[in-house]
Order: sequence, then C-alpha cells, then structure tokens
Amino acid sequence: MKAFAYVNPATEKDAIAALSPERGRVLPLAGGMDLLGMMKDYIISPERLVNVKHLDSTISAGDSGLRIGAAAKLVDLAEHAGVRRQYPALAASADDVGTPQIRHMGTVGGNLMQRPRCWYFRNEEFHCLKKGGSRCFAVEGENQYHAIFGDGPCHIVHPSSLAVPIIAYGGRLRVAGPNGPREIDAGEFFQMPSANLYGESVLQPNELVTHVILPVAGQRSASYEVRFKQSHDWPLATAAVNLTMDGTRIRTARVVLGAVAPIPWRTPAAERVLAGKTITEAVAAEAADAAVAGAKPMSGNAYKIQIAKTG
Ligand SMILES: Cc1cc2nc3c(=O)[nH]c(=O)nc-3n(C[C@H](O)[C@H](O)[C@H](O)COP(=O)(O)OP(=O)(O)OC[C@H]3O[C@@H](n4cnc5c(N)ncnc54)[C@H](O)[C@@H]3O)c2cc1C
Repeated sequence: MKAFAYVNPATEKDAIAALSPERGRVLPLAGGMDLLGMMKDYIISPERLVNVKHLDSTISAGDSGLRIGAAAKLVDLAEHAGVRRQYPALAASADDVGTPQIRHMGTVGGNLMQRPRCWYFRNEEFHCLKKGGSRCFAVEGENQYHAIFGDGPCHIVHPSSLAVPIIAYGGRLRVAGPNGPREIDAGEFFQMPSANLYGESVLQPNELVTHVILPVAGQRSASYEVRFKQSHDWPLATAAVNLTMDGTRIRTARVVLGAVAPIPWRTPAAERVLAGKTITEAVAAEAADAAVAGAKPMSGNAYKIQIAKTG
C-alpha cells in the first residue's frame, strides 16, 4: 500500500476542511472495510485519509421518521428496536450484510459509498472503463454478477444493500461540504455510468454524507435477498417494497430492486400494478413480471431475472 497521511478531525467542519475537491486525492475513512481493501489492491492510492468515525452515529426513530448518523454501525442499525419495528426492510438489509465482524466495523455512510465489486474494476490488471480504460470487460467476459438493467457503458451493479430500502422508504441523504449542508433525495443521489463513469453518486470529493433521513414508513414494508447458500458475499438480487394502505387495499407502492443495475433500480411499472389493488399471489406475480420487463441480460446473467422476480 502506498504511504498516506492520516487526519483525525474532531468535528464535521474540520473533517470537511481536511478533504480536497480533487477526486481520489483525499478520502474519508470510516470502518475501512472497503477503503483499505481497495488501497491494498492498488485500485486507489489516496495521499490522505480523513477519519470520519467520529461523525454523528446516533439513530433516532420517532413519530416523524428516522434519522441515522452516517457513522452509525451496521450492527446498531440492524438491532435498533425502533428501526426493526418501523422500518423492517432496512433492519433486515443491515442484518444481512456480510458477517458479524463486518457489521460491527462497517458504517452506514461507508456502506452507501462503498465502491462496486465488479471483479474487473477490483483487479489492477484490468484497465476498465471505470478506471479510465476504453472498454467494459464484462461485455465479452465473465458477467454472471453484472447488471441486467441500465444499458452500460459500464455494467457494474450497485453494491449497497442499505441503499435499496432507503430509496423504497423515500429517504433523503444529508450531505455537508465547504458550502454547508444540503439534502438530496436518495433516489437522485446515485448516478448511472452514463452520467458519471468514475464515481457512483452526486457526492463531490470534498463532501461527506452525514445523515440518512427517512419519512414515516408505509404500513407494510419488507425486503428480500437471494444469495448463494451460506455465503457471506453480496446478494445476487434484492428487493425492497414499501406500501401505504387503505385497509387491505394498496394506496401507493415503492418497489426497488438491488444488485441488478448500476444504481438501486426503482420499478415504476411494478408500482403501478400494485397501486389500488389488494395483495394476492396473482397481483404479486403481475408486479414481479412488470418489475423485470425491461431487463436486458448479458451472456451469463439471465438467471438474475427469475431471482429478481422471486425476490
Ligand atoms: C465479505 C464481505 C461481504 C459484504 N457483504 C455486503 C452485503 O451483502 N451488502 C452490502 O451492502 N455490503 C456488503 N459488504 C460491504 C460492507 O458493508 C462495506 O464494505 C462497509 O459497509 C463499508 O463501510 P465502512 O464504514 O467500512 O466504509 P469504508 O471502507 O471506510 O469506506 C467506504 C467508502 O465510503 C467512503 N466513505 C465512508 N464514509 C463516508 C462518508 N460519511 N461520506 C462520504 N464518503 C464516505 C470512503 O471514502 C470509501 O470510499 C461486504 C463486505 C465484505 C468484506
């Protein structure tokens, strides 16, 4: 690993002041579960790391919604009684991440900002599109874990399990930078490769994610993940659904798929199928068909269509 300087700021303001507008030169360090691996593999070589473990880590769930400090540990989110009761899709997604060790070290901010797991991107031998090269090696290579939506030109899937329910719940991200804080709809935070090839979000290099803010959840919500049996690896496909109800009838639905596209993939067609209906197996199956109707699998990942539907 290349030598780097380390800054340990006491406040959010000091942390922001220690960052740089130049992409990749200075990076925030939270639990380090993703960042240090990428540095050891020479995928990134920042000059300076800024410790952000001391940012707000409180989780407060109340009548008006949920506020999560970016430095909250995944384990604390998964085990929080209010989150489990009011936002079961989020608690389940946090609980399903990796292993207990990863959930004890990994933070909410780091989970949202972790980089893609594409094996070409993560391998220093491949100078892929995302690293400034001229091609996405997944197109003609091994693409069984890659995207079935999005049309490239880079075919990563978004790695954050938490992002999927956060968007299903209509969450916002509080972001802070040199010009002060701003809030961004989580559904507009993540960017497709066609809009941003070298990053995955609208966050600027000198900004931090400081909080996740969720409105009151619908009356029914759930998430589901499909993984290899007994694997601690990232899911093959996930889904999160958040419903507001009029009695037994669905008033509004938000349906988001994960691990199938370069961003968490909201599916308006499935949401339209569900709105106004009472949930039955047939309605759920119709919504699942609608959710994957536009999928364009690559040579090795058509199987994801079926598991995304089941998810
Ligand atoms: C075996 C294994 C299995 C895993 N399985 C899953 C899974 O199923 N689902 C899933 O979602 N994840 C999974 N992960 C990933 C893991 O959840 C993330 O690596 C972890 O959450 C990252 O959090 P961190 O605090 O360690 O971030 P770090 O590694 O410290 O940072 C990650 C990135 O985020 C940036 N960053 C950190 N905090 C902030 C902030 N506040 N504002 C702006 N940028 C910030 C860093 O600069 C870096 O680029 C797995 C990891 C492993 C090793």
